[in-house]
Amino acid sequence: MAIKITDECINCGACEPECPNNAIYEGGAEWRFSDGTSLKGQFTGFSGFTADADAPQEPKEMDVYYIVTDKCTECVGFHDEPQCAAVCPVDCCVDDEDNPHTEAENLQKKESLHL
Ligand code: SF4
Ligand code: SF4
Repeated sequence: MAIKITDECINCGACEPECPNNAIYEGGAEWRFSDGTSLKGQFTGFSGFTADADAPQEPKEMDVYYIVTDKCTECVGFHDEPQCAAVCPVDCCVDDEDNPHTEAENLQKKESLHL
């Protein structure tokens, strides 16, 4: 399962520096595959979305922090539990039921982000 942030987010910013994949962005901020990863050139994420790793992408949310699903590995390979959920003061980092990745898939995602 990937993790998502609900609209109950209070924009405290505590989760962002904890993410080993730099998958968390402030509302309104552009995201890149290359942020916090070793990616260069064209990259195709787990969802099939392809982009230049350094190209800025449209924010997914404007008003609250958000998680780029293609960069979220549920912290597999780095930590025993999702770090964003561990630090969030309002428990709004929750399972993303639309992206039910297995542990093996999350490990595969992690390895593709950090060569
Ligand atoms: S679960 Fe881990 S990898 Fe996913 S967004 Fe949260 S901190 Fe980042
Ligand atoms: S820790 Fe929780 S409340 Fe704070 S920015 Fe992250 S998701 Fe929002």
